[in-house]
Amino acid sequence: MSLPSSVDVAIIGAGAAGLGAAHALKDSGLSSLVLEARERVGGRGHTVMAAPDVVFDVGCGWLHSADRNSFVKIAQELNFEVDKHLPPWRERAYGKAFPQVDREEFIRALEEFYERTSQAAKQGEDIPAGRYLERGNRWNPMIDAISTYVNGRELDQVSLIDMESYEDTNINWRVRRGYGALMAAYGAALPLAFNCVVTLIDHSGKQLRIETSQGTLTTDKAIITVPTNLIADQAIRFYPALPEKVDAATNLPLGLADKVVLSLTEPEALPKEGNLRGATMRTEMGTYHLRPFGQPCIEGFFGGCYAKTLEDAGDGAIAAASIDEIVSFLGSDFRCKLRPLKESRWAHDPFARGSYSHALPGHAGKRAVLAAPVDGRLFFAGEATSPNFFTTAHGARDSGERAAKEVLESLST
Ligand SMILES: Cc1cc2nc3c(=O)[nH]c(=O)nc-3n(C[C@H](O)[C@H](O)[C@H](O)COP(=O)(O)OP(=O)(O)OC[C@H]3O[C@@H](n4cnc5c(N)ncnc54)[C@H](O)[C@@H]3O)c2cc1C
Repeated sequence: MSLPSSVDVAIIGAGAAGLGAAHALKDSGLSSLVLEARERVGGRGHTVMAAPDVVFDVGCGWLHSADRNSFVKIAQELNFEVDKHLPPWRERAYGKAFPQVDREEFIRALEEFYERTSQAAKQGEDIPAGRYLERGNRWNPMIDAISTYVNGRELDQVSLIDMESYEDTNINWRVRRGYGALMAAYGAALPLAFNCVVTLIDHSGKQLRIETSQGTLTTDKAIITVPTNLIADQAIRFYPALPEKVDAATNLPLGLADKVVLSLTEPEALPKEGNLRGATMRTEMGTYHLRPFGQPCIEGFFGGCYAKTLEDAGDGAIAAASIDEIVSFLGSDFRCKLRPLKESRWAHDPFARGSYSHALPGHAGKRAVLAAPVDGRLFFAGEATSPNFFTTAHGARDSGERAAKEVLESLST
């Protein structure tokens, strides 16, 4: 769609939050337009065919808290098959690299850590969650590795209170054709302008003036859904400046999680939906999902500083590290069976600049600050604004719906 000169509501970003907002405004009688920097919808939700027989979600893949996840109903309505098999994280260990007895000990240590953080959070002091690692516990590096997967960051940089605000019902499903593909279908009929990079929101006048790479547009209301790192870096500027939003976004930085998919010849040598990882006493480790959906591939997952180091080493470094690690677990025969298909580099993606948000210690309250409307005209959504489902796609979508409701309420007062 070419850029009109004016709309009632401009929505910035066509990720889950922007799509949620646009859907909620569809029948409101207001004209709206989603301004999206990329050539596609979905943002951090993106499915590719990594090979003719391999569907790969480069970003989100799991319908977390599936019993409360608004994308489940959307999947049903759009005829996307939802896979309800158990995730492989706990029950489906494969191989000798992480023997069952060690795994049980590790899970016990992890649960005890979570019990300590949950008790400590009741005291209300917002300190680094890492303070609750038990001194000298041999599993500390691996508990930290889990934090790099879940928070995108090591525990010393994660707010205790924020971490404890996250709600997880522990029901995790998947979309067989891909979470990103579901988002693409969800966004298909919405008014969207692609390749439209917003650079400035001028709220000094009676109408908002939005400068973009496609020209300028005026609007009464704007819903801003871009990732926090873009607000913190002032890739989108506000005039007059909004220092409280920049501060909130800076203290809710995106951590890093990256994924890789490797093709696997002779896939039957490995179980479907297995999990492979080593009982390595370090935080710098990958975790591997064997043959997701029975496909002939292995998916690897990396987080935190380790993911950043690998990204910075250049394209292909994540795949190379995964192959080395898998070979160290399964034997050198496997080297010739694995071939890189695709890897993410979310920190280097100019319109994401990371994977998902965490609050820095002392800043758990910043999600509410970021979410708060300004002047009845600027509204904020995106995963980082969700009070309890932050980091997730459904949290992002629901936040877009919440921001759209705020727009409508602002018109009725
Ligand atoms: C590797 C990885 C794995 C993940 N796994 C899961 C998972 O299993 N389950 C889960 O629920 N979540 C997962 N997530 C998180 C989930 O993908 C995100 O929380 C969610 O998609 C964020 O949606 P959003 O709308 O807030 O932001 P985004 O999806 O980032 O959307 C923001 C949009 O704004 C656009 N934009 C940016 N700058 C501009 C600009 N200047 N002008 C115009 N447009 C702009 C972007 O291009 C983007 O499309 C994962 C993320 C990653 C990276």
